[in-house]
Amino acid sequence: MASAQRTAQKKKVHIKQEWCKGCGICVAFCPKGVLTMSPRGKVELDAPKCSGCGICGMFCPDFALVLQEEDVQECLK
Ligand code: SF4
Ligand code: SF4
Repeated sequence: MASAQRTAQKKKVHIKQEWCKGCGICVAFCPKGVLTMSPRGKVELDAPKCSGCGICGMFCPDFALVLQEEDVQECLK
């Protein structure tokens, strides 16, 4: 029997790279460890592992981290 799916909303953080000055504060505070600094001094996100908790955004002094809702497909058993 094929499993049913539904569309759900999940929060993920979006990085406004043009506002990020590369201080690294968000990397230090992310409880999931999914933020890293690139060699160019910009923040990168392992998006599938982001829980959407929003903690990084609370600590960014430049408001460069914004929570956004996105559609995800969930399997129903
Ligand atoms: S929203 Fe939470 S899990 Fe996602 S990057 Fe920010 S601190 Fe990490
Ligand atoms: S806290 Fe904000 S400005 Fe600092 S590295 Fe993270 S996103 Fe960039």
